[in-house]
Amino acid sequence: MTAGTLSNGKQKPLGVAEAVQKARDTFNSGRTRPVEWRKEQLRNLFRMYEENRNAMIDALHKDLRRSKMEATLLEVEYLINDLKDTLHNLDEWVKPTRPSKGFINIMDDVVIHNDPFGVALVIGAWNYPLQLLLLPMAGAIAAGNAVIVKPSELSVACATFVAETLPKYLDNDAVIVVEGGPEETTELLKQKFDYIFYTGGTNVGRIVYQAATKHLTPVTLELGGKSPVYIDNTVDINITAKRVLWGKYINAGQTCIAPDYVLCNKETQEKFLEAAKKVLKEWYGEDAQKSPDFCRIVNSRHFGRLQAILDTDKSKVAIGGKYDLQDKYIEPTIIANVKPGDKVMEDEIFGPILPIVPVENAYEAIKFINEREHPLVLYVFSNQKNIQNLFTEQTRSGSICFNDTIMFYGVDTLPFGGVGNSGIGAYHGKATFDTFTHKKSCLVKNFSPIGEKLASGRYPPYSDGNLSF
Ligand code: NAD
Repeated sequence: MTAGTLSNGKQKPLGVAEAVQKARDTFNSGRTRPVEWRKEQLRNLFRMYEENRNAMIDALHKDLRRSKMEATLLEVEYLINDLKDTLHNLDEWVKPTRPSKGFINIMDDVVIHNDPFGVALVIGAWNYPLQLLLLPMAGAIAAGNAVIVKPSELSVACATFVAETLPKYLDNDAVIVVEGGPEETTELLKQKFDYIFYTGGTNVGRIVYQAATKHLTPVTLELGGKSPVYIDNTVDINITAKRVLWGKYINAGQTCIAPDYVLCNKETQEKFLEAAKKVLKEWYGEDAQKSPDFCRIVNSRHFGRLQAILDTDKSKVAIGGKYDLQDKYIEPTIIANVKPGDKVMEDEIFGPILPIVPVENAYEAIKFINEREHPLVLYVFSNQKNIQNLFTEQTRSGSICFNDTIMFYGVDTLPFGGVGNSGIGAYHGKATFDTFTHKKSCLVKNFSPIGEKLASGRYPPYSDGNLSF
């Protein structure tokens, strides 16, 4: 556990309760509220990103064997762009807004203030260990909160990077890193927070939600699940294969919005497999294990989980299927003619295995999707507007994306989050600021005789004759 600094500049470990108290004292002192303080922190964070690009890329390589390109595109640049946008818009976002008002309030001021919640807890996941932790943290700071930041213990190098680097740039009394696993998180969750932002699996999400009820703390839960892809026969299958496989195989499938499985008819399945073979060879050569562009599985527990799927559903493997425990390598794999009851369809795969479940048509696909938990995202590949509309109207998911994968995540004006088992709440762009902001309603009256007259009907003695119904 790391928090605070000693006079010699070294990290001073704080207990969990002590760290939260420190953040609370800082918030209560009013230090985090001025917009100038927030901007200064965000500018320092920006400097941290700029000065530590290579350290971030190295940490991601150590944890996941991320290529420089994927590390830059999906984490470092993503964080930098988000921060630029926040810094650019913050003065506007913090301004109180004045909603429309009725005749009765014509003399009054009706205002919505953007208040910070207080002390926020941000719990990150290991699969995008920097982006999923630091982006909400920046949003919490932008909104004027003090923050406790808890990196995932599974992405060790990134957790160490955050714990060692963040205190060099940010106000150590207001932004405090607490390292550790379930034990430390359990301890953290016993404390009173004013907002909890959790990213990770649904089961731990339930634990977080339950802990939050004790203090009636509002939460955002960014969870996972099985995100389907439907492909019909009106699409360009080569482009479709590229877009589906890129979404699946970045970070070796360890992406919350990765396509989990494909639904299509048997004819499309054959065309997709043919196109996929070509694409994978083009991207990763004859042997993906030798490619510098293909990631590894985060640890042996997750490797074992994926190996069990491959061992059980071996006979249906159409492409790939090899693995190497020593190297935590799982070959980009496609399993064809999958049945709904097969092992690969039990849980979120979260690895480079893509099952194809044959269905007759869009109606059968919609029925299949609706029989399961609401996904984080639904991908539909179709050129037919009526089919697109059918999926939009007849299914529920956190997001829906047509004719591509992942790219919707980068549109910062689209709030990102799940629904049902895939999550509660949303963030990205202004939605992140709003997530960490309490919209405080405010009515300001004056003592003008006209205003008093307008509202005088409320005082007794009441006269029913004044009622118009
Ligand atoms: P993880 O193991 O890193 O866990 C997430 C956090 O929960 C960690 O900080 C961990 O310390 C903490 N934790 C673990 N066990 C705990 C316990 N028993 N009590 C309290 N805290 C505990 O992440 P994970 O769950 O393996 O992440 C994978 C899942 O996260 C997938 O389901 C994926 O879809 C989902 N995910 C969702 C998003 C999103 O934005 N919606 C992003 C990434 C991952």
